[in-house]
Amino acid sequence: MTRQKAVVIGGGLIGLAVARSLAGRGFGDVLVLERHALAGGGTGKSSGIVRAHYGVPSIAAMAWRSLPVLEELGDDVGLRQVGYTVIVGEENVGPLKDNIAMHQALGIEVDLIDADQLAAMWPMMHTGDVALAAYEPRGGFADATQLALQLGRRARDHGATVRQNTPVARILTDGDAVSGVELESGEIVEADVVVVAAGWWSKKLMADLGIDFPVEGYRSELLIVDAGMPLPDLPVVSDLVSLQYCRIEGSGQFLVGNSDHADFSHKLVDPDRYSNVASEASIEGYAEKLMHRFPGFPDPSVTHTYAGVYDVPPDWNPVIGPVDGVDGLVLCAGFAGHGFKISPAVGDLVADLVLEGDSTDPDVPASDFRLERFAEGRPLNSLHPYVGAGEMR
Ligand SMILES: Cc1cc2nc3c(=O)[nH]c(=O)nc-3n(C[C@H](O)[C@H](O)[C@H](O)COP(=O)(O)OP(=O)(O)OC[C@H]3O[C@@H](n4cnc5c(N)ncnc54)[C@H](O)[C@@H]3O)c2cc1C
Repeated sequence: MTRQKAVVIGGGLIGLAVARSLAGRGFGDVLVLERHALAGGGTGKSSGIVRAHYGVPSIAAMAWRSLPVLEELGDDVGLRQVGYTVIVGEENVGPLKDNIAMHQALGIEVDLIDADQLAAMWPMMHTGDVALAAYEPRGGFADATQLALQLGRRARDHGATVRQNTPVARILTDGDAVSGVELESGEIVEADVVVVAAGWWSKKLMADLGIDFPVEGYRSELLIVDAGMPLPDLPVVSDLVSLQYCRIEGSGQFLVGNSDHADFSHKLVDPDRYSNVASEASIEGYAEKLMHRFPGFPDPSVTHTYAGVYDVPPDWNPVIGPVDGVDGLVLCAGFAGHGFKISPAVGDLVADLVLEGDSTDPDVPASDFRLERFAEGRPLNSLHPYVGAGEMR
């Protein structure tokens, strides 16, 4: 039997961010256990968009706190600070203004811009139906897999250990406290703290302890489009009018994702078994929206498609924190489409909770992320939700 002080289940972005923060702050032994290879879950499919635009202040603050970590890693994580824009129609002018005021109060660098300023920034865009937009000059995108590996490297530099091909079969308890984990190989690893950062798969690990973690696997399709011309650096676009998001790819192509989640229940899948290509019907729908927004692309064509799976709790926001009734057990999952850009701050929050017993960041109250909020009927929702596009904000 081996003894470790903290075991982190899951070698995705979140597990590795937690390991980095715990080890970096001197928490004894930290061991990450990954069933397959690092970053092979939702992390490997991430679009890697960097923004602080959220209607939940604590999540906006976590995105903002994470940005300097990304900036420090820079090229090592493929960071491209091309800027980030969110564009809205008339019906969402009020929420956009309210959200930007909230962001500015948090110290986030962002400004409202009008359709003319947007058109100057984005010459190929149709802006006729854009009532207002916001611009984050330090936003953009980076590579989620590279970020995960870099956070893992930092964790190891601080003494953490990472074991791949090591599936955890179950979490062990002793009375009302966690005592370690049992691996599928039968090996027992003792621990004082177990952090469950296994994305969607966390549900089963928690259910085995009799704890309900409500989370769904929601399939999301991505298109890679050749615009018919080399694309210069252009800001990322969250298009809340047509419900899509787009960014340039490092290769000069264009990545397009869907932000229309009205058909949520029809896209629920098992993340171990799902189609990794977009359907013909959905490609047509995405292409139509894309052509509407970017009529300036001379000869657009879809070069390939793929799909990923979000781990989505009922309010689309994560659970981060200790679980009532099991001392030493920390759940850190359900990041839906947000986990990449906030991952360094998530690691810091978990380290705060484990080492200090509470968040040390007044803008990031730990109470926001409690698991118990679902059973209590107190979801974590945007303060200023967008009509038709509430989920991802
Ligand atoms: C298509 C797509 C686009 C996205 N785009 C963005 C974006 O633009 N910006 C943004 O901020 N976020 C984005 N996200 C979200 C972000 O990528 C995720 O929130 C984040 O990567 C999740 O990391 P994770 O570590 O929680 O989960 P995962 O990456 O899924 O990692 C969980 C890990 O746990 C392992 N595991 C599971 N069970 C066990 C077990 N029993 N034992 C050991 N290991 C186990 C899995 O193998 C996996 O590696 C996107 C996500 C998707 C799917």
